[in-house]
Amino acid sequence: DHRISKIASAIRVIPDFPKPGILFQDITTLLLDTKAFKDTIDLFVERYKDKDISVVAGIEARGFIFGPPIALAIGAKFVPIRKPNKLPGEVISEEYLLEYGTDKMEMHVGAVQAGERALIIDDLIATGGTLCAAIKLLERVGVDVVECACVIEMPELKGRDRLGDKPLFVLKEDM
Ligand code: 5GP
Repeated sequence: DHRISKIASAIRVIPDFPKPGILFQDITTLLLDTKAFKDTIDLFVERYKDKDISVVAGIEARGFIFGPPIALAIGAKFVPIRKPNKLPGEVISEEYLLEYGTDKMEMHVGAVQAGERALIIDDLIATGGTLCAAIKLLERVGVDVVECACVIEMPELKGRDRLGDKPLFVLKEDM
């Protein structure tokens, strides 16, 4: 698609952030480019609009930027999946492994119903641990996770393998 190369070039790469040796993919510059940002949303909307999806689950923090416009356009509700102790209501949580230690993702009880069809959105998949925890959270309450979608994939980290047979759609791959 001719839109992808413009989207890719609107993403800035910042070396040594947040730690030395890390090449950080900065999507805030994509948000400054009104055409590329709209094309990003449109590409997801074109893919998901006729898939009977009633839930777009966005992962904190940058899934909160891309998820809501997609949800509005396809007529789905938006459900935030957050870092621990941020959601005020009763939550269910799922722990996942990091390089050192563990982290947790949480979702409000009652936000989704068993049998609903969900799309999970984040800006980037690295090791896949975050998306994997989000899938487990939704599946534990009986939701059918149709697909995960990200703007960027870091393929050498093999996050896709960690998702098992769950489909992953990405707009661009990076090294
Ligand atoms: P994973 O769990 O797949 O290892 O890491 C993915 C999570 O870390 C995503 O929520 C993503 O926002 C964040 N992340 C890791 N590296 C980067 C990066 O280079 N750029 C951005 N924008 N997010 C990153």
